[in-house]
Amino acid sequence: MNDISAQLDRLRDAGLYRRTRLISGPQGPRVMLDGKPVLLLCSNNYLGFADHPRVRQAAADAAMRWGVGAGASRLVSGTMTIHERLEQRLAAFEGTESCILFGSGYLANVGVLCALGVAGQTIFSDALNHASIIDGCRLARAETFVYDHCDLRHLEWALREHGREGDVIVTDSVFSMDGDIAPLAGIVELARRHGARVVVDEAHATGALGPGGRGAIAEAGLDGQVDVLVGTLSKSLGSYGGYVCASREITELLLNSARALIFSTALPPPVAAGALAALELLIEQPLRPAKLQATAALLRSELAAAGIAAPSGRTQIVPLIVGDADAAVRLSQAALARGVFAQAIRPPTVPPGSSRLRLTVMASHTASELAGAVTALSEAAREVGASLAGEPALAEPVARAA
Ligand SMILES: *Cc1c(COP(=O)(O)O)cnc(C)c1O
Repeated sequence: MNDISAQLDRLRDAGLYRRTRLISGPQGPRVMLDGKPVLLLCSNNYLGFADHPRVRQAAADAAMRWGVGAGASRLVSGTMTIHERLEQRLAAFEGTESCILFGSGYLANVGVLCALGVAGQTIFSDALNHASIIDGCRLARAETFVYDHCDLRHLEWALREHGREGDVIVTDSVFSMDGDIAPLAGIVELARRHGARVVVDEAHATGALGPGGRGAIAEAGLDGQVDVLVGTLSKSLGSYGGYVCASREITELLLNSARALIFSTALPPPVAAGALAALELLIEQPLRPAKLQATAALLRSELAAAGIAAPSGRTQIVPLIVGDADAAVRLSQAALARGVFAQAIRPPTVPPGSSRLRLTVMASHTASELAGAVTALSEAAREVGASLAGEPALAEPVARAA
């Protein structure tokens, strides 16, 4: 029997029960949360484009010009001029031959992995890849092999044992819950040796890393050497939707076989126009990503000065590993009582035993806001008896895509 209230009770007992919180107003560095002003330290609106006046205006104009909905799938009657323009600009920005939009980053990963991961092939997937990649692996006809997090030797062994020409290696570039960066050069090299294709998810890298915010692939000097770049319009680009940059042949295959694209309505025109305006701002203001990096470095040094251990790293995602799910929630609540909103992240988003507060900074956070946040986090940790000073070793990677 499938008893729903028992399922909910089990989640509560395990400290894994979730609820949403109500934010009023836009996703700025400070928001009203459930009616109370707080510092927002868990939004992916890294560059402030979600509420930028030019982005808002572009979305509003598009709504007046083209309406709100796209009306149908891209393949039926849903391809509009704004979609084509955004795809052209994204391909030019990423330096690829072609680009195709998806309804979200989640759908883009599912679509790509199902289209490339055909029966008889294997998808090699990092143990800490995003849930949308895990779900793409589950839906694809290919087998999945989960290699240890960022472990090139394990990946190489797996390719030698199980690899075939045309297999797929897929990785986040910046890992969404840990903020570390995949060893992209090594992955590309292994793929070349074994005839595999490389899919890199730049969701948290676009606008944050690399020259002009072009991501981790560009930063590693690997332009043109990754088969498929998956991106989202919903983080640094402040809007909503996913995209895939690749060769024309691959985007043609996606248009013809990615069910997540074929059977889902095209992006709403205001959403596409907002993303396009944000992309233009990013291109015009290539120093915004550097400001984000500087802000992240500031938070990391404030944490270190307060004796709070964060894993060494340099991105805008800073996890404070607590361990126990319940303790992470209590810490989050105690921080909130001090005006700092940092979300507790628990299984299955992260492996059991590695629950955490995942802090994300925005380019617009000020030094005094961050200093105040670190004081609040220290006090909160003391109040709930959570230790944030220990070695924050990442938990044993588990085979989440199994
Ligand atoms: C957020 C995220 C996605 C999903 O993107 P959406 O556009 O929000 O659906 C995919 N991959 C990674 C690594 C992400 O962090």
